[in-house]
Amino acid sequence: MPDFLDSEHAEVLSTAERLAQELVALLARVLPEDREPAVRQASKAAGVFGMTQPKAFGGSGAGSQALAIVRDTLGSRNVGHLPGIFGPSPGVLANVEEPLRSQFLLPYLAGEMRSGFGFTEPGDAPRHTWARFDGDELVINGQKSYVTGGADADFINTLVEVDGIGPAMVLIEASRPGVTLERRFGTLDGSHHAVFTFADVRVPATHLIGEAGRGLRRALSQISATRMAIAADCIGQCRFAIDLVEQSLVERANLRADADGLTQVGTDLERVALGDMRIAAYAARSALYRTARLLDAGENAVNEVMAAKSLATETLSRICDDAIQLVGGTALVEGHPLAGILRRVRALRLAEGPTEVLATNVARGRLDLGLGRI
Ligand SMILES: Cc1cc2nc3c(=O)[nH]c(=O)nc-3n(C[C@H](O)[C@H](O)[C@H](O)COP(=O)(O)OP(=O)(O)OC[C@H]3O[C@@H](n4cnc5c(N)ncnc54)[C@H](O)[C@@H]3O)c2cc1C
Repeated sequence: MPDFLDSEHAEVLSTAERLAQELVALLARVLPEDREPAVRQASKAAGVFGMTQPKAFGGSGAGSQALAIVRDTLGSRNVGHLPGIFGPSPGVLANVEEPLRSQFLLPYLAGEMRSGFGFTEPGDAPRHTWARFDGDELVINGQKSYVTGGADADFINTLVEVDGIGPAMVLIEASRPGVTLERRFGTLDGSHHAVFTFADVRVPATHLIGEAGRGLRRALSQISATRMAIAADCIGQCRFAIDLVEQSLVERANLRADADGLTQVGTDLERVALGDMRIAAYAARSALYRTARLLDAGENAVNEVMAAKSLATETLSRICDDAIQLVGGTALVEGHPLAGILRRVRALRLAEGPTEVLATNVARGRLDLGLGRI
């Protein structure tokens, strides 16, 4: 549990603990195909669903610490990854003006439209996806290679390079002439993605999300929020995996006590392994909450968010792998929670910035911009 919570955050923690218990029970009694609406209903009743949505749109616009507490708590019961817990958040569409607000943002927040995020491009692309102005339209060409949920999306918020101006985010409807869904594919973690090409796609210039030339900054603010979400969920799952290891060591000790009277929980080697897990989880969890506090104080914490995401995913990956080793073969059986965590965390070490790219950026933040804390 994060330490020294004020009354507001203590209340958030109790709410999250109650919801976590409810979702664990729900998993046991509701069939997989019926889960999402049931999860959504439970989350709405708990007041968690609207935490990622701004107050102006009927949500509660929770801060970074409150969101970290909820995600960490749900992750600690291994239910934080379930779809339906959080309502759609505006992401890059935050603060857009008309006509984007009425045509896309409002229906999106109401769950009536779906979006994708087009950022990653194929390594062999001859040129970044680009756009040029033609009167009051933008003409877009290029390719995006890893748009999560893209095959079901009504529109893709796409990073393009505008000729002579620089990076911009543009909203492109999937139904526009010239947009082709080339391929849909699934990944190890169970998520689905799409490859799109754009061939002379014309959109009104009003589809620019924010100012042309400042698109990377806007994209980065969405990426930072997602990195914090990933970090908090992973930190919770570190605790879940460690709890499983401890239970397994106690069960084994009980068996040994029955067989030969030995009472120590865990061999010396198992104790070292468990201690290492706890030390690593402590460091990663401390980084998460420090970063959340910096964000809530309005500080520039781009580098710390990268550090928190990288620490959380790498730590969970190692803890999960070691936990499987300690628990044994049952942990690799399909359906075992550790097998599920292993799949998901493998994807998260790459998604929203591979660990090595984040490290390079943290170094660049320091050396080129004089930013970043330790
Ligand atoms: C589950 C999942 C969901 C995703 N969802 C989306 C999405 O919705 N939208 C989207 O646009 N993309 C998405 N992605 C793509 C993801 O952002 C990219 O896979 C990731 O950024 C790596 O890019 P890449 O695959 O092109 O690999 P590359 O950029 O080719 O990198 C491969 C490896 O090379 C090394 N490397 C590359 N550049 C550097 C550097 N500068 N410094 C040090 N090492 C480096 C790293 O080890 C890196 O892992 C998703 C990926 C996954 C796995």
